[in-house]
Amino acid sequence: MAETYQYSLRFAIDPFNWNEERAKKLIKFCQEARIDNVVFFINPEELNQGHLTIDQVRTHWLPTVAKVSKRLAEMDITTSLNPWTTLMHSDRGQKVSPELGFGTMVDYRGQHAESIACPADPRWVEYIADIYGEYAKLQPKELWLEDDFRHYNHTPIKLACFCERHMKIYSEKLGRKVTRTEFVKKLLQPGEPTLERKIYLNVARVEMKKVARLIQKTVARISPTTRLGLMSSFPEWHAVEGRDWDGLFDSLSGTHLRVSRPHLPAYNEVSPLQYSRDFERYSRVTTELVGKNSDVYPELESYMYSPFVKSRMFTKLQLESTQMLGATGILLNLFDMMGNGIDETYGYAELLAESKDLMNLGTQHRLNLEQLDGVKVLVSQDASFNLQTTRGENPEELLPKEYSWLSLLGSLGVACKPEKWTNTSNFENEVLAVSGQFFNNLNDEQITALLKKNVMFLDGESVQILFERPTLRTLIDAEKLEIKRARTNYQSYEQIDGMVIDQIENPRVTMLQHTGDYYKIAYENANKVEILSSAYSAKAEKLGPVMTIINGRTVILPMNTDPKYGWESQYYSIKAKLLKLILNKTTDIDYVVDMAGTKITASSNQIVLSNFTIDDQKQIQIHLSKTKQQQDWKLYFHEGAKLQELAVKPEWIEHDVLTIPYQLKGLETVILLA
Ligand SMILES: [Zn+2]
Repeated sequence: MAETYQYSLRFAIDPFNWNEERAKKLIKFCQEARIDNVVFFINPEELNQGHLTIDQVRTHWLPTVAKVSKRLAEMDITTSLNPWTTLMHSDRGQKVSPELGFGTMVDYRGQHAESIACPADPRWVEYIADIYGEYAKLQPKELWLEDDFRHYNHTPIKLACFCERHMKIYSEKLGRKVTRTEFVKKLLQPGEPTLERKIYLNVARVEMKKVARLIQKTVARISPTTRLGLMSSFPEWHAVEGRDWDGLFDSLSGTHLRVSRPHLPAYNEVSPLQYSRDFERYSRVTTELVGKNSDVYPELESYMYSPFVKSRMFTKLQLESTQMLGATGILLNLFDMMGNGIDETYGYAELLAESKDLMNLGTQHRLNLEQLDGVKVLVSQDASFNLQTTRGENPEELLPKEYSWLSLLGSLGVACKPEKWTNTSNFENEVLAVSGQFFNNLNDEQITALLKKNVMFLDGESVQILFERPTLRTLIDAEKLEIKRARTNYQSYEQIDGMVIDQIENPRVTMLQHTGDYYKIAYENANKVEILSSAYSAKAEKLGPVMTIINGRTVILPMNTDPKYGWESQYYSIKAKLLKLILNKTTDIDYVVDMAGTKITASSNQIVLSNFTIDDQKQIQIHLSKTKQQQDWKLYFHEGAKLQELAVKPEWIEHDVLTIPYQLKGLETVILLA
C-alpha cells in the first residue's frame, strides 16, 4: 500500500457523557474525512481534574476509549492517546492531591505553582512513568507527551524551576549555598554568560531527558510497538530551558522513529501574511531541530472552535502548507475538548477529504529536509548558553534572535531553510544567513571559516560581534562601526541610488518606522566593497552605506531587531527585489517572481509553492537555479477531490524564469515534481 499522509483527529471523549449517538457521529466523520488515526485526549481542558490517579485512568478513561477504538479498528482506523497533562499546563484552582503528593514548580520570581509539578521531584518522575505505563496497556499507535513538558509558560508562573529542591541542586553544582534571588541575578547578568546560567540550563536539559528515558523504558516494556511523540511549542523558548533536541528525542523514541508535533502558530485566523512569518520561525525551525529521522505531525488547532474563529479556507492553507515541512501527517484539533463531540455543521469532512490525495502525493515524495536548496539560516539549540543579555532583568533577554532571515526570506518567496548548527558543522560553497547573536555560539576560527568559504548574509548585530572580537572585523574590511538609534532624527530612509525597481527611480525603503537601529559601518578597502544603497536623513543628506556586498560574498544588512516590530520594515516590495537582485549576483538560487506572499520550498526534484495571501496569483513564475532548468517537471494540484497533473513545457523557461500558465488561487498549495 502506498504511504499515506496521516490524518489524526484529536478527539475529546468524556467518559461520563458518552453515548451511541456521539460514537456514530465520530465514526461517520472519520469515514467521510478520510481520517487514519484518532488521538483520544485523556483529562483535557474543561474535563481536566488535575493530575489523575492511575485508578481514575484505569476505571473511567481507558475503558471508554477501548470500546470505540475496537469499532474504529474494524475500519482500519488506528487509536492513539493524548494524555493532556505531564507537568500540567497552568494553575486552574486545582491542587496536587495528597495521594500523589509531589512538589510543585517555583518560578524565577519565587511564585509558587499549585498544580504544576516540579520536574525534579522523584515522586512526580515515578508517577509520570507509571501512568504512561498504564496508558500503554491500550497499545496505542502513538502515545503523546503534551507541550506542557517544559520549564516556562505555566500560567501564572514563568521560567522555572527554582523550588527548594532545585536551589539545593544548583548550590551543589556551584559548590556553595546560593539563594534564589542571587542565583537568578547571576543567571540573567549582562556580559559573558555566567556559571550560574550554564548550571541552570544544564540541569533543565538533563532532567527532561531523564524523565523521557524513564517513560520510554516503561512504555516499551508494556507495549513495544507504541511510539512516543512529543509536542513542542516555541523553539526560542525551548532554547531558554536548554533543550537538547537530539538527546530528548533519542531518550523518548527508543528504537522507533522520532515522532514530533511542531506548533502551527495560528489558533485563531490571523492574516495569512502574518502566519507566513510565524510559520518559518516556529514550525520550520522546530522541524529542523527535531531532524531527519522523524515523523512530523504538525498541530492544526482552532481555539476556540468553529468557523467563527477560523474559516475553512484558512484551515485548508494550514493543512496543505505543511507540505513545506515534509510533514507525514497532521494532528487535527478541530472540535472542542469538553465533550460535545463532532459538530457536523463546520463542514470539515469534505475539506479534509478533498485535500487528501494531494497530501498523500507529498508524503510519497517526501521532501528531504537535509537536502533542501536555498539560503541556510543557521540556528543553534545552545543559543541561550552563549548569548549576552543587555539589562539582566528578564528571562526574555535569553531568547535567541536567530530566525529573522528565515521569516524574511521565506515570506519574500526565496527558497531557504533553517539549518541546525553543531560544533561539527562545516559549510563550504553554501549560501548562509545569520542574525542576532548567532556568532556568539562560535569561536573565531569557526566564524572565519564560514565567512571565507561561503556567501553569507549578516545583520548589524552579527557585524557588532565581529568588531567585539579583536581580529574579525578585517574579514569584512570594516574600519569603524557607529550605532545610530532609530528615530533620533539621524537616518530616515534607505535609497538605492542608480537603480530602477518597479519603474521607480532611486527607490527608497524606510529606516524610520518599524525598524531596528542603523549600524553605520566605514569600510577600509573600497575596491572590494560594493555599496548598493545608502542611508539618508529627512533632509536628503547621504549618511553612509546600507546594503553592501564585501568581496563578492558577504552581504550586510546593517540593522538590529526592534524590540516590538522586529524586521518589519524589510517586508517591502522594493527590498524584496533588491534582495533577489543581490542573490542573483552572488548565488544561483530559486525564488518566486512577482508572486507577493507566495512561499517556495525546493529540493533537487521537488518544489512546493504555497500562496499565503487571499489573492489569486495570475500565473506561477519561478526563477529556477540552473540544474532545475534542465529537468522535466510536472505540476500537481487538486480541483475538489480530483488530483490533477500538468506537464511543464521547456519553452516556458525564459531568462532563468519558469512561467506556468496556472492561476495559483489564494491560500492554495501545489507541488512540482521532477
Ligand atoms: Zn523544582
